Amino acid sequence: MVQRIDHLGIAVRSLEDSIPYYEKALGLKCEHIEEVPSQKVRTAFFHVGETHLELLEPTSPESPIAKFLEKNPHGGVHHVAFATDNIDAQLAQAKDAGCQLIHEKPFEGAANKLVAFLHPKSTQGVLTEFCAPLETPH
Ligand code: ZN
Repeated sequence: MVQRIDHLGIAVRSLEDSIPYYEKALGLKCEHIEEVPSQKVRTAFFHVGETHLELLEPTSPESPIAKFLEKNPHGGVHHVAFATDNIDAQLAQAKDAGCQLIHEKPFEGAANKLVAFLHPKSTQGVLTEFCAPLETPH
């Protein structure tokens, strides 16, 4: 079951250039910066109430974020991530509903989470991520 919007993913050219906007203009605080080799990005996270912003900077021209920036030179909202209590069931439900899965199996993303994406062609134009904690709490 989808529980909430976990985060919005925002593509940027440079974390160093973008973080000051969020800190100074919005008064948010950068929680941590993390490289995610599987997605060829560096990410910066900000708490916004119960949800987060995830800034994404490409670390390679092959990064999906580099390709997004080719089409959207100023950056912008890249994906919406929904927290779910069962990522496999969520993927199965989306598949049954006719959605195209980018990842049939969840993989390890940023912030200690399992993640998987649905293709925007099949989700009304919004790249959609499901995420769940990597380790279930004891
Ligand atoms: Zn994300």
